[in-house]
Amino acid sequence: VSPEKSKTMIGFDDAQRIVRERSIAGSATVELPIQDAFGHVLAESITSTINMPLFNKSAMDGFAFRFGDLSEGNSFKIVAMIQAGKTPNVKIAANECVWIMTGAPVPDDCDTVIPIEDTQVMRSSDTTSNTSPEVNQEVRFMSPPRRGQHMAILGEDIKEGDVALKAGHLLQHHDVAVLATVGRATVKVYRPPSVAFAATGEELVEPGNPLQPGMIYNSNAYALWSQIKQTNATAEYIGVIKDTREDLREKLTEGLKHDILVLSGGVSMGEYDYVPDILAELGVEIQFHKVMIKPGRPTLFGVCGDTLVFGLPGNPLATIYSFMLYTAPAIRHWQHHPNPFGFRYKGELMEPVTKKSGRTQLVPCELELIDGRYQLYPRKTHGSADLFSVSGAKALAIIPAAAREAKRGETVGFRKLFE
Ligand code: AMP
Ligand code: MG
Repeated sequence: VSPEKSKTMIGFDDAQRIVRERSIAGSATVELPIQDAFGHVLAESITSTINMPLFNKSAMDGFAFRFGDLSEGNSFKIVAMIQAGKTPNVKIAANECVWIMTGAPVPDDCDTVIPIEDTQVMRSSDTTSNTSPEVNQEVRFMSPPRRGQHMAILGEDIKEGDVALKAGHLLQHHDVAVLATVGRATVKVYRPPSVAFAATGEELVEPGNPLQPGMIYNSNAYALWSQIKQTNATAEYIGVIKDTREDLREKLTEGLKHDILVLSGGVSMGEYDYVPDILAELGVEIQFHKVMIKPGRPTLFGVCGDTLVFGLPGNPLATIYSFMLYTAPAIRHWQHHPNPFGFRYKGELMEPVTKKSGRTQLVPCELELIDGRYQLYPRKTHGSADLFSVSGAKALAIIPAAAREAKRGETVGFRKLFE
């Protein structure tokens, strides 16, 4: 056993701490069209160049009038019609009103809007029927309005020169709408890292090709590809790497040119698990190589200049969980994400879990929210290669290393696998 393979194990919390300490917040920024900005972190503060609303605006289809005129009676003469997008210069006299559409500017003379549903338009020949309004017709207000109702006031949402979004803000859907609202077509965000990834193993065949005896389809690369995409990073697929020193040396050299390199397989105790040796040979400083966790013990984290390297275990569930617990946080940190390690929740375990003490146990669970409390229903799996048993599991319970078992009814920490 080579010296690189015999590095001592560390606990899960220490492993996450080391990733937190050694991962890098990148300084590069990029200007993106706003339609691509979702999930990125702002590298500039956004100052509003406009007042919002830009003018006193009707919030209803109805009639704008002067509230004070109501003392003269609740019948008003329609003197104009204002469509959204139009700014006619309308003046009104006593007990006159304008027919106005939602989003149209309310004339300066008016201070209140009554919705069309609360009115009755009078045809000159007929005093009871309600018809579509027309200029010069009379309209009667059928319910008492409040002064100022159904108007959005100039600058009440944001004023010109105010900060709409601060640098460091993680852009959600409605933030993209804010950018558009203040007229921005592009925005400066932190550049996501370029993430190279590969699957190692002589036994791997790419999906879509025939399987030979002893071979399996490469699933890890495609799980990793999805996980990388979800972080907004640029995914650079190297492909399958053979378990030979030559192939590893050549392809890992390429991979190390990226900001982050992610590998699956070849980091364990097998005779052909050359990944740690070759990484060390290429100048990667290995920070840890084994974690006291199940699944996911053979997990390697290394640093080479400004490049972070993750050697994830080959077993499919271990790959996915290790990426989620170490790699995704490092990628998010690179992009200045405000909460790179994600949220931890607590829930009630609905079935007992037995385990070896001394190793943190990851347990995929179904999740229910009953009366404000999360309930965790562990999935039965055949082990860390059994992808089929966990499809649809929404939570990953994290049972601490020290425990021999977690009883039914016990409160345990978990992370959401998806919402
Ligand atoms: P390793 O960590 O290379 O020893 O692999 C551990 C187990 O995971 C072995 O059973 C491998 O066949 C399997 N495995 C490794 N890489 C992949 C992959 N890319 N897709 C699916 N299974 C894999
Ligand atoms: Mg292997």
